[in-house]
Amino acid sequence: MDKTIPENITTVLENIGAACDRTGRDRAEVTLIAVSKTKPLPMLQEAYEYGIRDFGENRVQELVSKAGRLPDDIRWHMIGHLQRNKVKYIVDKVYMIHSVDSLRLAEEISLEAVKKQVTVKILMEVNIAGEASKFGIQDTESAIALVRAVSLLPGIQIRGLMTVAPYTDNSEDNRQYFRNLKQLSVDIMRENIDNVNMNVLSMGMSGDYITAVEEGASHVRVGTGIFGDRIYNSI
Ligand SMILES: *Cc1c(COP(=O)(O)O)cnc(C)c1O
Repeated sequence: MDKTIPENITTVLENIGAACDRTGRDRAEVTLIAVSKTKPLPMLQEAYEYGIRDFGENRVQELVSKAGRLPDDIRWHMIGHLQRNKVKYIVDKVYMIHSVDSLRLAEEISLEAVKKQVTVKILMEVNIAGEASKFGIQDTESAIALVRAVSLLPGIQIRGLMTVAPYTDNSEDNRQYFRNLKQLSVDIMRENIDNVNMNVLSMGMSGDYITAVEEGASHVRVGTGIFGDRIYNSI
């Protein structure tokens, strides 16, 4: 029989704790984001009641709709590819946007943030394995250049980096990618750019979050491992 949501959360938190212990990290450095995309409200509610306060969604409409119906103390993380024409719907609803991969998108976030008089925390999305199918910046030089440009925009705070590592059955395959993302954050910090910090490393999903924590993740994004398989209604 399938495990319940509280049981799954307990397991994930135990695994995160053990990975922290193994690597001498403080458990408090790691935030579990429950990725609730496609899942119905009652399931989110169950996770909320069990203590989850960070939820990840990848579609604007779904995030806005769920945010309107669940408690105000939830931190909503936008983790999916974001279109510029949808930015205006979420700047004042999200806790952090993980998926900023272009200056044009950052400019739009800045514009809407200033309009709504909020400051938006963002992460730069890095395509750390250089996969053709993925979004994100691909090399150190362009990452630093983009961070520099975005750091000058009002209404935005760069908090770190995010990556979606390749899908794999063996999380060890992704260890080097997580290391590379960590190293990139160190390289960017060394540039000493005003208004930029690299405290957040959003990496690791259901298949590889333990490895990601061992390599320095501050935020892991776990969907299937908490809520079970996603069923997409195909058209
Ligand atoms: C769906 C998704 C996740 C969660 O994936 P699982 O494998 O279900 O844990 C994490 N990050 C992003 C960006 C996603 O789109």
